[in-house]
Amino acid sequence: MENDLSSIRKILEHNGYEFTIQKHLILNVLLKSDVHLSAKQIYDKVKEKNIGLATVYRSLKIFKDLKIVKEINDNGINYYEMKIFSKKPLHIHFKCLKCNSIIDIDSKDADIEYIKLNKKIEEQNNIDIYDSNIIFIGLCNKCREELKCQDQLSSEE
Ligand SMILES: [Zn+2]
Ligand SMILES: [Zn+2]
Repeated sequence: MENDLSSIRKILEHNGYEFTIQKHLILNVLLKSDVHLSAKQIYDKVKEKNIGLATVYRSLKIFKDLKIVKEINDNGINYYEMKIFSKKPLHIHFKCLKCNSIIDIDSKDADIEYIKLNKKIEEQNNIDIYDSNIIFIGLCNKCREELKCQDQLSSEE
């Protein structure tokens, strides 16, 4: 992680931005998180260190512009995850309508199919794809089980 941070520092400084303690702390939150966080959720984790919401937004915009983080928009709310040093740069997201969590689809097979699909679209349309935002929407495993239990309870009545 320290290596990652020093590489990010280089990217920032190379582009004329200071690697401030605030940016450092925000990056730490993102690097440690295995879920996708909104600016507000990141702010909640750093506010006790005297970092304002505006600073969080400003830093995230810089990180996004420099392709350090990836932004996923869902119903007007942006969520963030690390883009560089991510072990899965191109992946599909899933959103649960019940608990609102956004999950990475972790599947080697699906990733390979997804990369193939990207290539196919590039070739068929003579375009270059840099990134994509596919979100499948439905019920996550946990919420599905909960609903099943509720169904069972109500059918027993
Ligand atoms: Zn859910
Ligand atoms: Zn993701």
